[in-house]
Amino acid sequence: MSSILCAVVLVLFHHWSVKRGKRKLYKAAALPPSAEKALHDKDALDVIIVGAGVAGSALAYTLGKDGRNVFVVERDLSEPDRIVGELLQPGGYLKLVELGLADCVKHIDAQRVFGYALFYEGKSTKLGYPLEGCGVDVAGRSFHNGRFIQRMREKASNLSTVTLQQGTAFALIEEDGIVKGVKYRVGGGQEREVYAPLTVVCDGCFSNLRRTLCTSKPEVPSCFVGLVLEECDLPHKNHGHVVLADPSPILFYPISSTEVRCLVDIPGEKVPSVASGEMANYLRSVVAPQVPEELQKPFLAAIEKGSIRSMPNKSMPAFPVPRPGAILMGDAFNMRHPLTGGGMTVALSDIVLLRNLLRPLRSFHDVSALCEYLEKFYTLRKPVASTINTLAGALYKVFCASPDRAMQEMRQACFDYLSLGSVFSTGPVALLSGLNPRPLSLVAHFFAVAIYGVGRLMLPFPSLNRLWLGTRLIVGAGNIILPIIRAEGVRQMFFPNTVPAYYRAPPSK
Ligand SMILES: Cc1cc2nc3c(=O)[nH]c(=O)nc-3n(C[C@H](O)[C@H](O)[C@H](O)COP(=O)(O)OP(=O)(O)OC[C@H]3O[C@@H](n4cnc5c(N)ncnc54)[C@H](O)[C@@H]3O)c2cc1C
Repeated sequence: MSSILCAVVLVLFHHWSVKRGKRKLYKAAALPPSAEKALHDKDALDVIIVGAGVAGSALAYTLGKDGRNVFVVERDLSEPDRIVGELLQPGGYLKLVELGLADCVKHIDAQRVFGYALFYEGKSTKLGYPLEGCGVDVAGRSFHNGRFIQRMREKASNLSTVTLQQGTAFALIEEDGIVKGVKYRVGGGQEREVYAPLTVVCDGCFSNLRRTLCTSKPEVPSCFVGLVLEECDLPHKNHGHVVLADPSPILFYPISSTEVRCLVDIPGEKVPSVASGEMANYLRSVVAPQVPEELQKPFLAAIEKGSIRSMPNKSMPAFPVPRPGAILMGDAFNMRHPLTGGGMTVALSDIVLLRNLLRPLRSFHDVSALCEYLEKFYTLRKPVASTINTLAGALYKVFCASPDRAMQEMRQACFDYLSLGSVFSTGPVALLSGLNPRPLSLVAHFFAVAIYGVGRLMLPFPSLNRLWLGTRLIVGAGNIILPIIRAEGVRQMFFPNTVPAYYRAPPSK
């Protein structure tokens, strides 16, 4: 009798584990009958997510784990091969832990990152992340973006509540100003519709659905040109490297145990043509001589090898989208210059916040009440997101070469300030890494750099010329940071608890 019972339990367990482990990641146009049925039943789904990149797959997993029925439509379910999102700051890693997704950086040859090395005019300084007390596993992680995303997609689709289908969303379905669902095209051009009370648009920096929901447009201050250096050792192992070059910074960081990513910033929206060889010439003649000596040979070898790619670096402050039935997340919602590698940290931090806000709700069907309630999200996210955004924008401007003597002084002051060590480096690095993103601390450090620069100008004695230069330095610093803060929203960034939405309670129904 007991052996029969044992056998039954084993069969049931096997059945359960097969069912549980079965991935619902559909590349084909047709879904299995059960999933098709769920799509036709307008009440079956809780959430539709458009895009399964960093934000979409993390959100799908977290909402699915909370028992929500989630349908994800993703343009391309094969492993992405991109030059974006390859360095996750320790603050972002902590968010990954909170979401239960930390294992997604395992088994992908991800490298631990413990801080940055900064190079300027032949000198270098090392800036470690302030990781004391964070836990043994906590550090930055760098990896192939596609491997990381694929791990998150698999983890999400392993949940019985989540279905991922390959398809391109092209329109939101709206009725009386309420978003009811999404129209998408599957392979062969077949058009389909899917309905849910909440649609989360996570279709990245080139988002075409964003235009339906908000009017904000990204700026493109520069482009990153990406190369992979093979079989080379970085001067500072397990550190990101930032070269303050002319005209703008060059980055290096490991993306696997044998590869180093190099991102060369080129100001403006246009880059030299790769096809005509103009780009290789530019990299050889302008960039290579500024690269640290140890990296010059592999850098030149990477140019010879080809496969030079570029991406626009977009920047767009977040604007609330009070549209019942829809919300934007990830890059579709908010972007900052990728110099500081903050995009994934902001996206994951937003997802933790959204998950916590949605958790007490039994259903999302009261769309108007939900929309009003979610205004709280836009306020709560501000201190963290705005700090990371503002730092990225301001640091990019400070780190670029400038013909203006005052800005040259600011760049030198910034390098020397960070080289002072102790709180002068840990403070700004804690902001950058997302470990302690506090707006007031950001402003304090930024102006401390400017004052430090002015103080040095006054030594050994002030002159009229030096006083004038110092004044221009302070004014220049203000001109860099204040417009970014204004665009982020002063009140929400510094005084979020004075915004009424901050106190909004979840809808009672
Ligand atoms: C050059 C560069 C380097 C960067 N480096 C870093 C870094 O080191 N660290 C960091 O934290 N951040 C970095 N970022 C920013 C980071 O890449 C983004 O913040 C992050 O990828 C945003 O995630 P997301 O999910 O919003 O967008 P994505 O990861 O881009 O995902 C969007 C998804 O939507 C899908 N999609 C698009 N349109 C549709 C559609 N119509 N229908 C269905 N699916 C669709 C896409 O296929 C994609 O899978 C970098 C950005 C750039 C430009």
